[in-house]
Amino acid sequence: MICNSHTSKNPLALVVDDDFSLRLTMGAALAKVNFDVIEAENGCIALSLFKSKKPDLILLDVVMPEMDGFEVCTAIRELPGGKYPQILIVTGMDDIESTVRAFEVGANDFITKPINWIMLGYRAKYMLRAGQAFRELYLSENRLLKTQKLAKLGNWQIDLVNNAFCCSPEACSLLGLNAMDKPLTFDGFFESIIASDQGMVKETLSNAVKDKEDFSLNYQIIDLNGTQKYILNQGEVFVDENGVPEIMLGVVQDLSQLKQAEERIRFLAFYDGLTGLANRMLFMNRLDMQIENATRNDQKFALLFLDIDQFKRINDNFGHHIGDLLLKAVAETLKSCIRKTDTAARHDKDESGLMIARLGGDEFTILLSDIKNPEHSAIIAQRIFNAIPATWSIEEKDVSVTASIGISVFPDDGSTSETLLKNANSAMYYAKDRGKNTYQFYMESLNRAAVERFSMERDLKKALVRDEFVLYYQPQITFADRKIVGAEALIRWMHPDKGMIPPDKFIPLAEETGLIIDINKWVLKEASRQNDKWTKAGLNSIRVAMNLSGYKLATQDIIQDIKKALETVKFDSKKLELEITENVLMQDDDETMQIFQQIRDMNISIALDDFGTGFSSLSYLTSFPVNTLKIDRSFIMGSIVQRDNRIIIKAIIALGHSLGKTIIAEGIETKEQFDLLKRYGCDQAQGYYFSPPVPVKDFTNFLARGFL
Ligand code: C2E
Ligand code: CA
Ligand code: CA
Repeated sequence: MICNSHTSKNPLALVVDDDFSLRLTMGAALAKVNFDVIEAENGCIALSLFKSKKPDLILLDVVMPEMDGFEVCTAIRELPGGKYPQILIVTGMDDIESTVRAFEVGANDFITKPINWIMLGYRAKYMLRAGQAFRELYLSENRLLKTQKLAKLGNWQIDLVNNAFCCSPEACSLLGLNAMDKPLTFDGFFESIIASDQGMVKETLSNAVKDKEDFSLNYQIIDLNGTQKYILNQGEVFVDENGVPEIMLGVVQDLSQLKQAEERIRFLAFYDGLTGLANRMLFMNRLDMQIENATRNDQKFALLFLDIDQFKRINDNFGHHIGDLLLKAVAETLKSCIRKTDTAARHDKDESGLMIARLGGDEFTILLSDIKNPEHSAIIAQRIFNAIPATWSIEEKDVSVTASIGISVFPDDGSTSETLLKNANSAMYYAKDRGKNTYQFYMESLNRAAVERFSMERDLKKALVRDEFVLYYQPQITFADRKIVGAEALIRWMHPDKGMIPPDKFIPLAEETGLIIDINKWVLKEASRQNDKWTKAGLNSIRVAMNLSGYKLATQDIIQDIKKALETVKFDSKKLELEITENVLMQDDDETMQIFQQIRDMNISIALDDFGTGFSSLSYLTSFPVNTLKIDRSFIMGSIVQRDNRIIIKAIIALGHSLGKTIIAEGIETKEQFDLLKRYGCDQAQGYYFSPPVPVKDFTNFLARGFL
């Protein structure tokens, strides 16, 4: 748009001359061809008139006092809008020097004195027309450039005949091309494109030329500042009259911000903007997937529903800002609690964050996948309570915080995501009813199980100090003459209130809590001491087997413990056997291997317990220093009725014997089983058929007898 302070429809001419009569005649000549005319008698007046009136044409006399015509011309061109008027300089006849200067200072044309007045009028008119066309072109180009810049849009062009490449300044900057240091080439066009996109861009463009078709490209570039940008490059190919491709035109656009916005939108669709945790939508989606997974693999999982107690009060007392910070802090705490678990984080480290969600307000949910038993989720809940400080210092405000957690377990408490969430939610309200800062399972019975587990854990910690463990002994006899050759020491817990608790009920808990390390030590010492006592009493000296929990064996100082046990009672290591289960062998790491080698070096024999139920392959048996195989009770149990079991038993015996191992059959309960195993050539027997595990006093009597 051209803005002008001159309001008449006629073009405006400014005549600058110190000669009054010349001004008059020039003015008259111009008025004749419909110019409105204003006059200035010197340069200063001319400049100020230019500023206020913005004339379309200026006639400038060269020779004037103070400021000459060249100076006035230079000054006008530097003023705002000074580029647009047509300036005609009036010089003396044959003044070549002035004519050259006139163009140098930016005049559009010159005219020599004496002036042909009729010509002047027409000349001025044509000049004005040319000037306007030029001015409009200039403005429209400028507008295009500005628009392109605003739209982050640029255009480029390649002349396919002579390979001449050019592009608009905006395209240059969008495409990361450096037009300053080197001339632009079509090859340079590809240099900024990231390596993985280059091939695709080249192929698309050459196909477009070949097929004379439009193209649309999406690719990434690295611009001159090293920033990665998403580019949309669209264009078409033009052909000459013979249909030969002549020119390819392209329009480029920066889509980076659009992409970012897109990502942000996607993030907001699935994540909570405040905490960065998953939102309800994503969580429900995960939950559905988890249900599918768990159903397929026959697994359990738990859903924890956490709600901050009296969050509204916190918001009211401290303001929403503190409330928000608290929610963020809770989110971080939950993340760190879950990260520590071996359940959620183990399988899918990157996804572990997705297992925690903020459903909205102060409600958080946690998905605990593949839990072994519901109590496990209670441990996590407890861990969360422990991690939430009673008073949280947020921006120097002490905020006291407690939370309530409800737990539902799949599939027991529901088989759909809605039911599981609803039940976890109602369990959470139940927890609030119970006085807050506590967790509740959806089912009361599970609550009881969890409570029991905790009280058992507490008691178990005290059991060693209170000397509540005892060892029972179960005899092991030869098939040939039923002579007692060994005993398996089996632990029992004499609980002051609950009576005798069998090992199956507390060993797993001891393993989970790490108490097993001390229990292992105690068994070693106690069994060694007892065997030493029998030897000293002159009773038949036998081999005592004890069960060694393989739980994190490599981290236990088991070798030291064995040495200590043997030293304190000066007990013959040959009379000691350690029973380990196959899965310990499966750990197959160097440390475990070393431990077993050291055990063998101490002349202590090793028995593989529950043999046949694990996955040990023959190679384990050859490479591991094992002396004895104990055929698992399940095979013996089914041996009479099931042919398969008999085949397995036979194979184990044959295999074991070929490797020089002693074979013990566990859990023999009947005469038939005894006879069968005897016929198969099994070496030793253990089972209720002869005796259950018995207290020391009874076993001492057995020893006195020598056989069963
Ligand atoms: P295990 O090592 O397989 O021990 C044999 C289990 O089978 C014993 O159960 C024993 O009483 C039982 N048993 C023996 N003969 C028969 C039979 O003829 N029929 C039937 N039905 N059962 C028979 P117990 O004493 O309850 O021990 C259970 C498990 O607890 C043991 O299985 C062992 O894995 C573990 N355990 C026992 N004592 C200890 C210990 O001192 N330390 C460790 N770490 N684990 C132990
Ligand atoms: Ca055993
Ligand atoms: Ca066993």
